[in-house]
Amino acid sequence: MTSHRVQEPIQRDASSKLNVIIVGAGLGGLGAAIAILLAGHNVTVLESAPAIGEVGAGIQVLPNSARVLFSWGLREKLEPYATWPRKCNFLSWKGTHLSEMDYHAYAQGADGPFMDFHRANLHLCLLERAQELGATLVTNARVSNVEIESDSATEATVVLADGRRMTTDLVVGADGINSRLREVLLGRADPPVLTGDLAYRLLLKTDEMLKDPELRPLVEDPQVNYWVGPDAHAVNYVLRGGELFNMVLLVPDDMPEGASTIAGTVDEMRAHYSDWDPRISKLLRLCDDKADVTKWRLCIRPNLYPTWSHPSGTLTLLGDAVHATLPYLASGAGMALEDGGVLGLCLARMTDRSRTSKRKALQVYEDCRRERTEKIVARGSYNQHMYHLHDGPEQEARDERFRAFAEADRQ
Ligand code: FAD
Repeated sequence: MTSHRVQEPIQRDASSKLNVIIVGAGLGGLGAAIAILLAGHNVTVLESAPAIGEVGAGIQVLPNSARVLFSWGLREKLEPYATWPRKCNFLSWKGTHLSEMDYHAYAQGADGPFMDFHRANLHLCLLERAQELGATLVTNARVSNVEIESDSATEATVVLADGRRMTTDLVVGADGINSRLREVLLGRADPPVLTGDLAYRLLLKTDEMLKDPELRPLVEDPQVNYWVGPDAHAVNYVLRGGELFNMVLLVPDDMPEGASTIAGTVDEMRAHYSDWDPRISKLLRLCDDKADVTKWRLCIRPNLYPTWSHPSGTLTLLGDAVHATLPYLASGAGMALEDGGVLGLCLARMTDRSRTSKRKALQVYEDCRRERTEKIVARGSYNQHMYHLHDGPEQEARDERFRAFAEADRQ
């Protein structure tokens, strides 16, 4: 693989240096902080939580986002935490092998690796890099509003729930799927769209798996496995070089109205998969009966019209706030990181702080990102349909395509 060019921070004087406030210190917000600092601007990140951290278990980083991370100078920080899966397998819900993709071969052509991380590790690497580059981070800072006087304003004022006010040249809303800043931009409530699915996410220690000849290869030969079946699928892969095993179980949403996460039980997970490939049941038997289990409702943001940015050029959005997708392409965070990278490159080209320059930069950012991210959201929903087919002619045609894909890949 080629060595990736690492961006050097741009040096600027006050005539073109913007003060940027990023709302949200998730993967998207921290990525944007790095990219905008590299573009030579000042960055403050406001996070509503009392501490900066990441919830959830594993995360797959695909070559497109690996390239972005490496261009930000993160390669050395990330490598000790990365697992480099060798391949990805698609299996029927009963365990028949349908298809595989050689990740290492694919990575050569894509000029970037496939990597799997514990989210906390990826998040911490981004946080450290943002801090090295000079980001100011403020926790316990829930943004309740952004005031922009008119379409010709050159500044916006961020209002926090505790009454603090901060005036700045540009606000970037990276506040996730339930984005408050999206509502501010639209001037109305805009709840995310239900998908009908929910996810169970869990981590297993691999010691017991290694004692079982059927489960051992899942640890020793790092791979991503997708079991696809009626109304559900299951995904798993190892993390931290084999120390942990990440499982995500996707099933029909049975959560009460209005909830985004609720507690579940190990028994209900086992019940969902009781007649699937026995390896899944074996894995679920390794879970502690009383383990804390969370169910995550899966929602999407298919589009945002008419624009991602305020006409004044003082407010824009990125990541899940704009285009949250089903995780069925493992690309939501990847899209948020790409957004940050592109936004940084657009702001890097600014030679003054004028409204015209900001508006132009934000327009180019949106033009570069809209089509790609809308396609990813649509593809995630397509995969929901394809992965969850019941046995029958459509499922057989899908499996044929899986097999043909693997065959074409081998040639
Ligand atoms: P978030 O991570 O939601 O961050 C938003 C931040 O803003 C949070 O820290 C929040 O506290 C803060 N915030 C919210 N409101 C305010 C406010 N008003 N004021 C201040 N701060 C605020 N993606 C991948 O690329 N690969 C995968 O393998 C993958 N797997 C997934 C598996 C599952 C089960 C799920 C559900 C998602 C998966 N994703 C994956 C998607 C990925 O997790 C998201 O797309 C990504 O985390 C979005 O990042 P974000 O920074 O836009 O939003």
